[in-house]
Formats: sequence, C-alpha cells, structure tokens
Amino acid sequence: MPTSYNTDILIIGAGLAGLSAANDLQQAGHSVLVIDKGRGLGGRLAGRRIGEATFDHGAQFMTAREPRFKAAVASWIEAGVAEEWYSSYPGQPNGHPRYRGVPTMTAVAKHLATDIDVMRNIRVETITQQQTQWRAELDNGETVTANKLLITSPVPQTLDLLATGNIAVPADKQARLERIEYESCIAVMAILDGPTAIEVPGAIAMEDGPISWISDNLQKGVSEIPAVTIHGSGEFSAQHLDHDRMEIGQQLIDAAAQYLGNARVTDYQVHGWRYSKPTIVDDDPCMLLSEATELPPLALAGDAFAGPRFEGAVQSGWAAAKALMSAN
Ligand SMILES: Cc1cc2nc3c(=O)[nH]c(=O)nc-3n(C[C@H](O)[C@H](O)[C@H](O)COP(=O)(O)OP(=O)(O)OC[C@H]3O[C@@H](n4cnc5c(N)ncnc54)[C@H](O)[C@@H]3O)c2cc1C
Repeated sequence: MPTSYNTDILIIGAGLAGLSAANDLQQAGHSVLVIDKGRGLGGRLAGRRIGEATFDHGAQFMTAREPRFKAAVASWIEAGVAEEWYSSYPGQPNGHPRYRGVPTMTAVAKHLATDIDVMRNIRVETITQQQTQWRAELDNGETVTANKLLITSPVPQTLDLLATGNIAVPADKQARLERIEYESCIAVMAILDGPTAIEVPGAIAMEDGPISWISDNLQKGVSEIPAVTIHGSGEFSAQHLDHDRMEIGQQLIDAAAQYLGNARVTDYQVHGWRYSKPTIVDDDPCMLLSEATELPPLALAGDAFAGPRFEGAVQSGWAAAKALMSAN
C-alpha cells in the first residue's frame, strides 16, 4: 500500500529558493515538506568528491546587496558555513566582497535545511488539483497532499510539471514564463598532480573563448589536493551540451592549459548544467500563479524571478513565502 503524506505547504526543490521559503514558512507556524530529486541539498549549489579531491562545480560564490540578505550572510559567517573569499583580482580597484560556502558552497544549503523536513532523491512526477488541495505523485509511488504548493525548479521544468496535471496557467502568466531563458554550462572537475598557475585568489573569470570561469579548489580551501573547476561559456556549452561529455571536457582542459602551468590532469569528470543561470528573468520576485483563479494557492520561485543569482534565489524564496502566507 503506497504511503501518503499530508502537509500544509509542499515545496518542490531544496535549492536556495525552496529552503529559504521553507524557513520563513516554518517560522510562521506552517508545516512544510520539501522534496528534491537530487541526492544532495542545494540544487545548483553543488559539490563533488573525486578521490581525495573536492570541487564546487555549480555556483562559485555569492555577492550581497540587499540588507536582509546581507544579514543572512553575516549569520552564515557566524555559523561557520560561509566566509569572505575575495573582493577583487590583483591589480584591480577594491570591489565588492564575494563570499564562499565553507567547506563548500553546499554548506549554506545544509545549514538552511537544518530544521526542515526534506525528502531527497525523490522526483515529483505529477501535480494535480484535488478539490481545495494539491496532490503530488512521487517517483517512488508515494503521494503528498498539501493545502499550498511552491515550485522552485528551473522554469522550463516547472512548465512541464504544470502540464502533467493539466493545470490551467493564465495566458499572461504563461507568456511571462515562456519568455524566461537560461544559459547552459559544462563544468569540468579535474584533479591535478601539482599546483596550478592561477594567482591569488584562485579564480579567473573570462569574457572571451570557450571558458567562462576557472577556479583552483585547493587555493579556495575547498580541496585538500590540487583540483580545478572549469566552466564552459554559455555559447560553448550550448553548442556541446549533448555531445560526448569526456571529449568536450578534454577540449576545455586543453583550452585551460596556460592556467594549469606544469600540472598534469590525472583524472576528470564532467557535469552538464542545462539550466545554469537565467539570461532573461521575470520582473517580479515570485509568481503567485493561483492569483485570481480557482486553483489552491500555488507560487513559483527561483533565480528566474528575483535576479539570476544566489542572492536572487534566496530573495525569491522569501517573497514566495510571504505571498503564500497571505494566499487563500
Ligand atoms: C555552473 C553554475 C555556476 C554558477 N555560479 C554562480 C555564482 O558564482 N554566483 C551566484 O550567485 N550564482 C551562481 N550560479 C547560479 C546559482 O547557483 C543559482 O542562481 C541558484 O543556486 C538557484 O537556486 P534555485 O533555488 O532558484 O534553483 P535550484 O538550485 O536549481 O533548485 C531547484 C531544485 O529543484 C529540484 N527539482 C526540480 N524539479 C524537481 C522535481 N520534479 N521533483 C523534485 N525536485 C525537483 C532540483 O533538483 C533542484 O535542487 C551558478 C549556477 C551554475 C549552474
């Protein structure tokens, strides 16, 4: 007999938007259940171990502009899960601080999930309206019913999920959602037999060519042995996302030769992010899809709403929590 759960608010996605919303909603007294198809927490905050090497292979750092988010970063630093990484590259004027997770970016997500009920490694396959509630069918055969629903997956995946339950999206909102676009990113995680030629602070952002970013996980303090993360540019990644991953990874390693110095790559893995960072975002910090409809409360959040980055995803989660609290 398949198990069925009931919760006040179901959140799809244990990335920054989902976990930030979950904290606000739970603190306001709601029962919250978060479900994520990934094995780890954090979504696009992603870390991987290969042998003795450790990599941040999704988001590399966060910046902080808005007061509440700055206060959140300060609380993460105090909790020991974040620290300032660098403010500017050598020889450049003093810029704004870039913060990193400690020991890896996923530490922030793990911290945010401390008191939250999260089901991992489980995909929500369909969502349907059941009278005044939402019903989610999971890929393990279980079901969840909830009074309110928050979906935080990348928008194209959210549209697919909405279609599984024939959920009627108002035409103006459908058009706004279809406008949103993301760039892809091929991420190479390479173990080296010696130190890189990358200068302090251990990362280089590039404007031209097949590479957009390369970081030295040893210098960053993520890895105990020499290990680099190489991100393909949006254009290169889009062209090669569906090609043989190891072959494409080798092309990026070859393109990075001057930054690797005398070090040789002893092993590498490649990950393809189809939806890496949004390039076209919505103007609102979240979308209350159920507004002015007969649907039970349903909100969408994520970095495609409040801004295409770490900070935007958190703020979108907070905005969605507020919207759902006042939605009936
Ligand atoms: C390569 C790369 C580099 C980046 N670099 C930076 C950077 O340096 N600085 C910065 O600020 N930002 C960076 N970003 C962007 C940043 O990572 C994102 O903006 C942010 O993490 C998005 O969070 P989110 O909660 O909106 O989405 P996500 O993190 O994508 O969370 C959505 C979650 O939903 C889950 N999910 C989706 N569908 C389902 C389903 N059907 N059932 C269950 N679970 C589901 C997914 O598994 C995922 O965990 C980078 C991103 C990438 C990929």
